[in-house]
Amino acid sequence: ESLSVGELANKLGREPSEIIKKLFLLGVMATINQELDKDAIELICAEYDVEVEEEIRIDVTDLEIYFEDPDSDEDEAESATEAIERPPVVTIMGHVDHGKTTLLDSIRDTKVTQGEAGGITQHIGAYQIESNGKKITFLDTPGHAAFTTMRARGAKVTDLTILVVAADDGVMPQTVEAISHAKAAEVPIIVAVNKMDKPSANPDRVMQELTEHGLVPEAWGGDTIFVPISALKGEGIDQLIEMILLVAEVGELKADPKVRAKGTVIEAQLDRGRGAVATLLVQDGTLHVGDPIVVGNTYGRVRAMINDVGRRVKEVGPSAPVEITGLSNVPQAGDRFVVFKDEKTARQIGETRAGEAIQEQRTEKARVTLDNLFEQMKEGEMKEINLIVKADVQGTVEAMAASLMKIDVEGVNVKIIHTGAGAINESDISLAAASNAIVIGFNVRPDVNAKRAADEEGVDVRLHRVIYKVVEEIESAMKGLLDPEF
Ligand code: GDP
Repeated sequence: ESLSVGELANKLGREPSEIIKKLFLLGVMATINQELDKDAIELICAEYDVEVEEEIRIDVTDLEIYFEDPDSDEDEAESATEAIERPPVVTIMGHVDHGKTTLLDSIRDTKVTQGEAGGITQHIGAYQIESNGKKITFLDTPGHAAFTTMRARGAKVTDLTILVVAADDGVMPQTVEAISHAKAAEVPIIVAVNKMDKPSANPDRVMQELTEHGLVPEAWGGDTIFVPISALKGEGIDQLIEMILLVAEVGELKADPKVRAKGTVIEAQLDRGRGAVATLLVQDGTLHVGDPIVVGNTYGRVRAMINDVGRRVKEVGPSAPVEITGLSNVPQAGDRFVVFKDEKTARQIGETRAGEAIQEQRTEKARVTLDNLFEQMKEGEMKEINLIVKADVQGTVEAMAASLMKIDVEGVNVKIIHTGAGAINESDISLAAASNAIVIGFNVRPDVNAKRAADEEGVDVRLHRVIYKVVEEIESAMKGLLDPEF
């Protein structure tokens, strides 16, 4: 806890009177038994060139909760006694102009959470609806960029993806990207065949084209759910929601509302009047106003919470999005948060361990490159090498993917997580970063944004103009025979 002047003097090996004098010079009148706050202790210690090292007395479980692998929720769900069903968290993806935003608006307009009607729509990055007493949370930043950025930071927030495909346009490049992103994250996909109101709508073509990408409709013997909709006219929305709830039920999503809250930052910014504002998605437990909280490498106490219809709330349970204030700094989307039992622990962790550990975690997760591939294989860390293959024409893409998949060195196989014709774009890089993949470009280059993102994320991008060289390079890298001057 805190320290008295006498105790501090003792720790510093000085006379209490000396400390009292120093404090006096710093403008603090103190007696020997006076308890000092942290700032005063730090000031005095600075005078003696002593660094304050706070004793960190925390439950190991707190830290484990904080740093646990987001994918390892399973054991926890089993051991937790009070885990009950929680609403699914849904992301909407698809090609530009296929109707993602319209669908998000349409769902929201028709199904505002009961009892919340009349509230003013707040765009806090996510919203919740209710249908037949069941809730669903939608992340309202459409597109896979946000989805994968979060995943690249280790956050797993999405339970289910709605892939919007316009029936008059069919499968387009970003549709394919979205499929790769969802598959890499192992998130189930429901296809919403949109714009069915258009005379030129051709849902059969959409099904046909998606089948080629592994999404086979149930009617054709597959297991992908297709729902025809018109986001604009609000048609088919009920069926879509029904299907979301169905898939969620199969997924047996659980959380324990009785534990201290933890989850992920959906978005955050600095507000002039309110300071750091963050939208959090509570993934387990219940978050209360006043909770001491560590968010990424910042911390604070939840000062106020506002829900998606602009209402002030005192507590929110699993899968609910909520905007909070009270943090000392602005966290980043994808940062994890955890509530601690007291503010002191939260502050200590926020100031020291969390920051460092997060840093460590980030650097630890060294991206795979062709240069360190062999090392990583030797350490037994890799059983599969993820590749993203881009080329100038589709035929080349397929030929290259086929030859790359044949590579097999010491039981480590090559997995192609995404292919496409055209320049290497930002989506390719973020997918690579999130999935620890190497990007291969054949007769194509990264565009400006992709180049910048690759540098930032440390993603290895390999460019080639001769097919056999591509295979040769990957194969020699896997054998540890890569020519260092590559
Ligand atoms: P996004 O880029 O995927 O978010 O697409 P938007 O939601 O912005 O929609 C692109 C355009 O398609 C807009 O002009 C919408 O009004 C239109 N649109 C979206 N859904 C439908 C639909 O179901 N039917 C028709 N006819 N137009 C739609």
